Amino acid sequence: MASTPMRDSADARVGGLSYLAPQTAEPWASFIEQIERVRPYLGPLERWIETLKHPKRTLIVDVPIVRDDGTVAHYEGYRVQHSLSRGPGKGGIRFHPAVTLNEVMALAGWMTIKNAAVGLPFGGAKGGIRIDPATVSKGELQRITRRFTSEIGVIIGPDRDIPAPDVGTNALTMAVMMDTFSMNRGGTATGVVTGKPIALGGSLGRHEATGRGVFITAREAARHLHVPVEGARVVVQGFGNVGGIAARLFHEAGARVIAIADHAATLLNEVGIDIPAALAHVAAEGSLAGFPGAAPIDIEDFWQLPCDFLVPAALEGQLTAERAAGVRARLVVEGANGPTTPAADDILRDRGVMVVPDVLANAGGVTVSYFEWVQDFSSFFWTEDEINDRLERIMVNAFNAIWRVAEEHQVSLRTAAFIIACHRVLEARAERGLYP
Ligand code: GLU
Repeated sequence: MASTPMRDSADARVGGLSYLAPQTAEPWASFIEQIERVRPYLGPLERWIETLKHPKRTLIVDVPIVRDDGTVAHYEGYRVQHSLSRGPGKGGIRFHPAVTLNEVMALAGWMTIKNAAVGLPFGGAKGGIRIDPATVSKGELQRITRRFTSEIGVIIGPDRDIPAPDVGTNALTMAVMMDTFSMNRGGTATGVVTGKPIALGGSLGRHEATGRGVFITAREAARHLHVPVEGARVVVQGFGNVGGIAARLFHEAGARVIAIADHAATLLNEVGIDIPAALAHVAAEGSLAGFPGAAPIDIEDFWQLPCDFLVPAALEGQLTAERAAGVRARLVVEGANGPTTPAADDILRDRGVMVVPDVLANAGGVTVSYFEWVQDFSSFFWTEDEINDRLERIMVNAFNAIWRVAEEHQVSLRTAAFIIACHRVLEARAERGLYP
């Protein structure tokens, strides 16, 4: 696929989504390549490696609705359960015009790795509908969400597969999914989705959790490299639920966020951007376009800004080999899923840029999803401090374990995370054995 201009990339925020595809034509091919890199480290478990290259269950659904003007429209939706070896499927639902089966397969695979790398008792799954939510009315979007939930209802459930928000979906989407599943079942099943509104069994801290995890892992990596966060230069692509919150936490820690980008604007202010003001602008205007506190720059220049932390927090495939060759960051911290292609990964390694991989850096969201699911099962809810403390502990422990494996084998943090995760998944696979 030809490379597309970056300013059209989308962010993890409902509304204003771009029409253009991620820059990697085949995210699944990237996933397979990442798995192959782990082969030499699997020992006897290598026998089972093909398991990871074959999603366990793939459902393609037709989602028809009557539009407000009386016509009938059809959308294509997916739910892929990549692995259920370690527990129920877990992973978000994406509403985006560029969603494909190939992409959802890769995203489901990354969820398997992420959940296992952090030690959550889940397999990996992902879903999506190829749609631009901005092109339909609120009522139409609700009908699409309900029909999609009914269609995938045959394979999801609190003990089978638990969806959550992703790009283009949010807590309200989850409320509608929870209600639809519950209506079909004749009882209220709060644990069928996570990332719900608090009033419906959602968890405190869930909304911020992904951005918080990005900040925690960035801070831990910087500690090892002796890069102080205070005064650091930070560049963030994507200014929604992941990038926006990570930027805020960097700002609060005394870092200087010098450049930010969303689908509508790419902005630079060398003195440091007033992040609370930028967030307020987005809340009021829907995007960074017209934000007066920074000046527009070219997206290709954005990737090459000298900085300590570069945080891609939009879509997969953004950090291509061409862009990686010009990156002047000490650390790349992946808020998005799959933002760095395997070729770019190698270039960054050769150039001494450390990458904190998605399967670790953005695992805070699914970690608090896990807390939400546990709270729903027990109908006993925790305080925000309890949630943030537990999140911090899980992220720091996972970071340290991955760091140790990276040192032991002299591999990247990504390969180290994959080594830990693949061992856990394939050990479960081997111990369960094959049926029949
Ligand atoms: N969509 C998020 C992710 O990519 C969260 C998934 C979840 O909470 O299940 O990690």
